[in-house]
Amino acid sequence: MSISENIKKYRAELPENVKLVAISKTKPNEDILEAYEAGQRIFGENKIQEMTDKWEALPKDIEWHMVGHVQRNKVKYMAPFVGLIHAVDSLKLLKEINKQAKKHERVIKCLLQIKIAEEDSKFGISAEEAEEILASEAYQKMKNTQVIGLMGMATFTEDEKQVSGEFQYLKKVFDKLKENYPSLGELSMGMSGDYNLAVANGSNMVRIGSNIFGERNYN
Ligand SMILES: *Cc1c(COP(=O)(O)O)cnc(C)c1O
Repeated sequence: MSISENIKKYRAELPENVKLVAISKTKPNEDILEAYEAGQRIFGENKIQEMTDKWEALPKDIEWHMVGHVQRNKVKYMAPFVGLIHAVDSLKLLKEINKQAKKHERVIKCLLQIKIAEEDSKFGISAEEAEEILASEAYQKMKNTQVIGLMGMATFTEDEKQVSGEFQYLKKVFDKLKENYPSLGELSMGMSGDYNLAVANGSNMVRIGSNIFGERNYN
């Protein structure tokens, strides 16, 4: 199927409350434009330089999401335009985002990344650390950044029970934190291989790349 057919398929298939983030990392601008012309407006990237180049070249009503791990010294490059940062994993990073957002008189929305997978290679913090950040005076004082939800990546495995269990755990953490922090509304979980399980377990934001744009070639 073509990129535009894939976009239409997901829009038809996903429940209405589930946002589709089209992950366009490594893909050329033509591919993004094809998805754009099919109506897609939210795109996700995992490298700040690549996202900035695409932002400069492509229509300005695209909402750009940073889904990758963020180095503090690079926040400044995306601060003028980024729509949502999915993988915030420290108060230090949040402070830098707040500082750079202020320079542009913006409020940058963020998600805290919770580690739910078994693999050591995956980033993220614990539920307790997330709660500490939200409860901290430093965060409460920030005017230019807002944590609007949580993000997680499940273990890369065929074992659907394990993946479901990890998503269920994250949904529980989300519901619990929401009691005290009602501004938490977004739960970003699910990728090409596991979005069905993620949606079944409460995701309202899926990050789908290869199922839309085809396999990535990193060479
Ligand atoms: C690349 C990436 C995705 C999309 O992965 P696919 O398997 O191609 O759908 C989702 N989330 C993050 C954080 C990614 O880096």
